[in-house]
Amino acid sequence: MPPRLLGPAEIRALAAELDVRPTKTLGQNFVHDANTVRRIVTSSGVGADDVVLEVGPGLGSLTLALLGEAGRVVAVEIDSKLAARLPRTVADFAPEQRGSLDVVTADALTVTPSDLPATPTALVANLPYNVAVPVLLHLMAQLPTLRTALVMVQAEVADRLAATPGGRIYGVPSVKARYYGDVTRAGSIGKHVFWPEPKIESGLVRIERTDRFGLDEDRRRRTFAAIDAAFAQRRKTMRSALAVWAGSPVRAEELLRAADIDPRIRGERLEVDDFVRLADVAASADI
Ligand code: SAM
Repeated sequence: MPPRLLGPAEIRALAAELDVRPTKTLGQNFVHDANTVRRIVTSSGVGADDVVLEVGPGLGSLTLALLGEAGRVVAVEIDSKLAARLPRTVADFAPEQRGSLDVVTADALTVTPSDLPATPTALVANLPYNVAVPVLLHLMAQLPTLRTALVMVQAEVADRLAATPGGRIYGVPSVKARYYGDVTRAGSIGKHVFWPEPKIESGLVRIERTDRFGLDEDRRRRTFAAIDAAFAQRRKTMRSALAVWAGSPVRAEELLRAADIDPRIRGERLEVDDFVRLADVAASADI
């Protein structure tokens, strides 16, 4: 039997029982629409072989839908009151669910593989909005076993994450997400599906991990440092923007030329491959 999903009445009842006062700091907007969580799970493509990592299960809306499809769900929640109630919600609403649930009370910004009871293969989450990008990038770096990520974030953040070179909104999150794999926008979600209702619309983003640049952590850090430097002053040319990072504008120009990048262009025109090449050149030049 598929799990029963949480609607407005169930969310209200659970929130009242726990005396939940949703906080903005923790990005607590709970989904009370069954179609939305079904849609997220369908788009994620997770199945019986997957161990799904869910960040911020909250009252369990998405968790219940995930348990109908995934083999196992590991839910990481920072709010201990919400984490403690979740197993009982699952027992009440999904007594015959396909998947098993582990709840970990932890901060997803600092979680490491050793904090988790299983090795996750997919991330599916309605992320806390104020830390969505750092959480996503932290998990992609920490958990290379995550083959896919399907996350709900603010629409504007979804646009930034999925942006391609050349556009105004292409920036640090876009390039860093592309380091891990193929990034696509996977739909939009209205405000009305949440309690409390946020001021802005939401969007879905998918990352299919390719690890084109390997799993060398030093290489990733070096590349990310070059990306941060290039976009810290995004209106400047790469030669100027990278002056501090390289030691001087002349040195920046030498490295850019060695990496086959025109020093006069701006970072917003560069693909992640360019930044990887630049970081590799700088490393062999001992920067
Ligand atoms: N998944 C639920 C849903 O869709 O209704 C709740 C999503 S709500 C947008 C974000 C959730 O993330 C909240 O339950 C909040 O307590 C939790 N949260 C916030 N910051 C967190 C962090 N750093 N680590 C883990 N969970 C966090």
